[in-house]
Amino acid sequence: MKYISGFFCFALAVLTASAAERTPAPIEAHNYTRATTHEELLAFVRAAGTGSARITVSTIGTTTQGRDIPLVIISRDAMASPRPRAFVFCSQHGNEPSGKEAALTLISQAAAGDLDQLLAHVDILLMPSVNPDGNEAAKRRNGANADLNRDHLLLLQPETRAVHDVYNKWMPVATLDVHEFGASGEDWQKAGYVRAIDEQFGLPTNPNVSPALITLGREKLFPFLESRLRDAGVRFFNYSIGGGPSDSVRHSTTDINDGRQSLAIQHSFSLILEGRNGKGMNDDLRRRVRGQLAAIRAYLTFVADNASEISSLVEKERRHIVTAMGPVAMQMDHIPDGSKLAMPVKTFPGGMDSTVALPYNPVVRTLFEVSRPWAYRIAKDQTPILALLARHGVQSWVLSRDTVIDAEAYADVRFATGMMEGDTAYFARPEARTVRCQCSAGDVIVPVHQPRATMIVSALEPSSLWGIAQYPVFSYLRSINGEYPVYRIMNGPK
Ligand SMILES: [Zn+2]
Repeated sequence: MKYISGFFCFALAVLTASAAERTPAPIEAHNYTRATTHEELLAFVRAAGTGSARITVSTIGTTTQGRDIPLVIISRDAMASPRPRAFVFCSQHGNEPSGKEAALTLISQAAAGDLDQLLAHVDILLMPSVNPDGNEAAKRRNGANADLNRDHLLLLQPETRAVHDVYNKWMPVATLDVHEFGASGEDWQKAGYVRAIDEQFGLPTNPNVSPALITLGREKLFPFLESRLRDAGVRFFNYSIGGGPSDSVRHSTTDINDGRQSLAIQHSFSLILEGRNGKGMNDDLRRRVRGQLAAIRAYLTFVADNASEISSLVEKERRHIVTAMGPVAMQMDHIPDGSKLAMPVKTFPGGMDSTVALPYNPVVRTLFEVSRPWAYRIAKDQTPILALLARHGVQSWVLSRDTVIDAEAYADVRFATGMMEGDTAYFARPEARTVRCQCSAGDVIVPVHQPRATMIVSALEPSSLWGIAQYPVFSYLRSINGEYPVYRIMNGPK
């Protein structure tokens, strides 16, 4: 009897200890009074990696100012058995710390076993802080003053290259790019409102992204998130952009240079998450971190619950993209469908619940498309283009001798300056004409039928609203007299 009661005491002690044992995330340890420093973050994740078999920590890159960018893998067996992977990356914008803090809290929970059910179905790749330099300086941009979430096509910054290195190495089926938004913009306050939404999830909007993946998000993921978050007292919304209550609203950009869309056009189930921010970096952190954590956990739960459906859909789309023959959309616009968007708001001041019906452009219409060539020929002297393709790991080969190839060339490409999504854009719709390319030894052939097919066409075509010719570093492409230096090869070898 004595022996048995001793055993019970021991069992009780173990239970109490494991429940109380969760090592708090740094933000919990300092009671949500300030954001975690990068030094604290590194110490915390490295200790978690040492202390828990579920957590593996490595350095995936180094910032322009020399800070380590950690990657945290959360897996029940260090990814020893094949499972679908979800990739969550946070705080690309340094002044949006709540995603980072939520990620650290998630690591703390995983180390304590709270995620074990989920980890039976999915492995998690987590970058808690993509932009440590910006975060330390409490600013949006990185240490080289670049907006990282506009760099996913050019990949000039080490931080964005680190994101794509993780993606390329582990090929996650689901990805989530975590940010913050301001609910109480000046225009809203002037009109007497603040938007009453907490966590906005955004689906891809580029018409070249697999429609099946977008449909899965809209019809199955969104209702799940809305209900899950409502239960947690968090208000879900479909990520919407517009300056104030009189502006028309659209669902973000169709550009392919952000974290969400650059991975979506490679056919992953890719979303952006925007949590409501505070007035300053350290304002209202408890509410912000709680909202982001609930949103990230709800997303991961959906991925785990639907892992086989998401995986088979993503794999099917990834097989399709390397053989697809159809055209690629180059120019597109946001247009209305006759409906209004009901935005939940609170009166300001006053705080009464209400809704405002906003002019709404929910549909993306393709304005111009090009046929998909079999390959491109890049002349050997086009070093910046070749370097960009190499940064993306695009497959290509070099001609070993001078070769004549039937191709299409754009002669005399003229760009007109216009506006798209509130910014300057350069519009061209050149006619391609058939040429015999006197291609030289050293020229590079880039086949389109590969996993980055859509990105390659979107980057290289002069008519592409989101192509390289739009960027200052490639502005020389807009003033070329004569033939555009990228040739289209329409037919592969017989
Ligand atoms: Zn952001």
